[in-house]
Amino acid sequence: MLARTYDLVRFEKLNIKTMTAKAKARPDPDQPGQYLKNGRAAKAGLNRGILAQGWGLLRRRTGHKAPGRVEDVPAPYTSVRCSACGWIDKNSRKSQAEFVCSSCGFTCNADTNASINVAAGQGGIPRPRRAAGAGGATMATRRSSAREPQPEQAGIRRF
Ligand SMILES: [Zn+2]
Repeated sequence: MLARTYDLVRFEKLNIKTMTAKAKARPDPDQPGQYLKNGRAAKAGLNRGILAQGWGLLRRRTGHKAPGRVEDVPAPYTSVRCSACGWIDKNSRKSQAEFVCSSCGFTCNADTNASINVAAGQGGIPRPRRAAGAGGATMATRRSSAREPQPEQAGIRRF
């Protein structure tokens, strides 16, 4: 369906190896300062592994059925970039589910916001922080992190 329907398919580039690795103690999202209990952490790790394998298979199959029309978008910042204005700020990610842009006020489900960024091929690099004192290295930025809303590109359906 993806190969038939879309001219271009973009996947968030996930690190399958990391995702399928044995679960480590992870912070409990429901109780700040607490860690997930072993059973829950192991279950979460197992679920992540299953999801990652399914994702990897979907990515490979889509690549076979739509050769040259599948792109991988680096995952960093897709979840903290505002899909409306391009502003990158981890404080915009209010919770697992809620995204509220600290620059323009755009509000969206956090997963929906991230998927719009991935569909647009946008992860991006945040503005380099000015180091105290001189001589701070300035990272090259491929794209400006603050952009005007871009027109839809041909063939890419927004959702
Ligand atoms: Zn914004």
